[in-house]
Amino acid sequence: MSYSNFHTHCSYCDGLGQPEEYVRQAIQYGFAAIGFSSHAPLPDSYCWTLKDAELKEYCHTVRSLGVKYSKAIQVYLGLEIDYIPGTVGKNSDEFRACNLDYTIGSVHFAVDDQTGRYFNWVESEDSYIWILKHVFRGDIRAFVGGYYKSMPNMVREKKPDIIGHFDIIKKNNLSGNYFCEGDDWYKQEVRDTLKEIALSGCIVEASTAGMARGCMNDLYPSMWILRECRERNIPIILNSDAHTPKELNANFELAVKRLNAVGYFEQSVLSDGTWKQVELTAAGAKSGQTGQNH
Ligand SMILES: [Zn+2]
Ligand SMILES: [Zn+2]
Repeated sequence: MSYSNFHTHCSYCDGLGQPEEYVRQAIQYGFAAIGFSSHAPLPDSYCWTLKDAELKEYCHTVRSLGVKYSKAIQVYLGLEIDYIPGTVGKNSDEFRACNLDYTIGSVHFAVDDQTGRYFNWVESEDSYIWILKHVFRGDIRAFVGGYYKSMPNMVREKKPDIIGHFDIIKKNNLSGNYFCEGDDWYKQEVRDTLKEIALSGCIVEASTAGMARGCMNDLYPSMWILRECRERNIPIILNSDAHTPKELNANFELAVKRLNAVGYFEQSVLSDGTWKQVELTAAGAKSGQTGQNH
């Protein structure tokens, strides 16, 4: 079984390391494939996204690496595109010209319906608190519910191949200060969203990003959500949202054990240019299998 990673950030956005260092590290790790998914440029300028002016060069660099290392690994060109209603998506002119192999759709922003302004709540707990207070008037259910409700819209409007870090809304709630994952309303929001995602054919990412950075001992999404994904036959992909070459396989072995435990023994990856189901199995995991798990 070979690993791969399609959620990576290099020096073109907020990652540390040249793209070539990522490819070399992926080869060293024995990966079958590596995909580059820099943060796509947004209408406003942010330090953590690709710059419009560098988009072409980014595409060219990734494609060149694909040619240079074609005997050792498959290299794919992607973008992680933020979902902000009314702004860029996979089919925006500038991205269509890139001939991307895939896109990751992610929600990092909340929109203030009153003003149309949007705010990034992922970057820090302070920004999360500010948005909860000023945009949602302290109503956590409106905040979290808005996050989950935006995902089916993203899937319908922007058609990403992969949904990034499905429940990253929990990232700034590790203390449990703002909501409880066990609450019925929270579970209902998740289930309503999964129901729509299951119909879309989108791949849900199983991400080790939170574990890789030491902020939680949990995948995105949580185990109970992965179980719900499995029940709905939603395809998954194992990624680490790597921001350094070393993080390319961060916590993958542990993640595979957990994915096997909820019944996932395959993941969807690009292989020879098309999405395929490939094995995802920790040593010995199949012995307890019932045969119902594929
Ligand atoms: Zn992201
Ligand atoms: Zn990312």
